[in-house]
Amino acid sequence: MQDWSEARHREGRRIAFVPTMGFLHEGHLGLVRDAKKRGDRVVVSIFVNPKQFEPHEDLSAYPRDIARDRKLLEQEGVDVLFFPADEEIYPEGYQTHVEVENLSLPLCGAFRPGHFRGVATVVAKLFNIVRPHVALFGCKDYQQLQVVRRLVRDLNLAIEIVGHPTVREADGLAISSRNAYLSAAERKAALSLSRSLRGAETLVKKGERNSRVILESVHREIAREPLAKLEYVSLCDPESLCDVEQVRDVALLALAVRIGKARLIDNVILKS
Ligand code: AMP
Repeated sequence: MQDWSEARHREGRRIAFVPTMGFLHEGHLGLVRDAKKRGDRVVVSIFVNPKQFEPHEDLSAYPRDIARDRKLLEQEGVDVLFFPADEEIYPEGYQTHVEVENLSLPLCGAFRPGHFRGVATVVAKLFNIVRPHVALFGCKDYQQLQVVRRLVRDLNLAIEIVGHPTVREADGLAISSRNAYLSAAERKAALSLSRSLRGAETLVKKGERNSRVILESVHREIAREPLAKLEYVSLCDPESLCDVEQVRDVALLALAVRIGKARLIDNVILKS
C-alpha cells in the first residue's frame, strides 16, 4: 500500500481516501462518489478495528461481507481496496496510541471510554499507510469527524478532511451497517431518531432557543417507542462539543439510542 501511494505521489496524483469497517451501503458509497470528485485516485480501506470496540461490544458479531464489498467498490471504479489483517495493523508488541483528549470525552465517549482512542489510533496509522491528500468522513459520526479534524491539526498532517452529509433512507433513517441488526418492528422504532431530530429542528425554526425545551421534546419522542431506549441526547457546541444552554447561531443536537441489539446514533446541526 505504501509503495503504491509513494508511486502516485511521484506521479503528482491526488489520492482521496475513505476509511470504513465494510459491509458497505449507500452511506459509504456516497463518500466514495464524493472522493472520486476530489481526487484522481481513490483508496477505500475495510478494517473492523478491534481497538474501537469496548470489551462487551459487538466486535465478533459486526456484519462482514468482503466479496460483496469488493464487487460494489469495483462497480464504483475505486482504484484500491486496502483490506489489512488485524496482525498487520497491530502486530505483537504493539503499544502506541493516539488520544484526542477533550473531544473524546462527551457524547458517545462517555459511554464508550476507549472508543475514540481506538478511532484516532487507527486513523493515524491508516493515514501514514495510505498517505492521502484528502480523506472523507461521514457527518453521521459527527464526534468522530471532529476527533479526526483535531488529530490532523494537532499532529500537523497535510491532509484535507471532508465531512460528507448523512445519507438517509427515504423515510429518514440514517443508513448504518448496524441497521442489519434490526427486526421489522425495531426498524420502525428506529425512525424515532430522525423524527425527534426533525421535531427539534421545527421547534428552533419556530423560535425556540432554550436547550432544556428542545432536549425534552427529543426525550418525549423517543419515549413514545417502547422498543427504543435513549442512551443520551445532547445539545452542544459543534466545535468543542461542550453543552450549551441556548441555541445561539449553530448547535449540534446528537443522540444515541439502543433498539434491540443495535446502538444507533444520529445528529443534526440546528441553526437559529
Ligand atoms: P463505518 O464503516 O461505519 O465505520 O463508516 C465508514 C465511514 O462512512 C465513516 O466516515 C462514517 O461516518 C461514514 N458513514 C457511515 N454511514 C453513513 C451515512 N449514513 N451517511 C454518511 N456517512 C456515513
